[in-house]
Amino acid sequence: MAFSQETKDAARKRAGGKCECTRSGCSHHTGRCNTALNNWHAHHKTAISSGGGDGLSNCEALCVPCHQNTGSYGG
Ligand SMILES: [Zn+2]
Ligand SMILES: [Zn+2]
Repeated sequence: MAFSQETKDAARKRAGGKCECTRSGCSHHTGRCNTALNNWHAHHKTAISSGGGDGLSNCEALCVPCHQNTGSYGG
């Protein structure tokens, strides 16, 4: 399963075009990341395998380094 283009566009818009990661485990930012979402990934906040869906509420717009940091890169 994957997010639709429509959902990804909405997530990017919701994020203001900037990475919305607030993970403290990311070494390249404190607080919110705010890296411009040029090359970015739509991350499932709750993994599909854990019952997460493909809706906007489960979609997090992340820059590539932040997505790698989630431990579920590619998913
Ligand atoms: Zn980021
Ligand atoms: Zn991050």
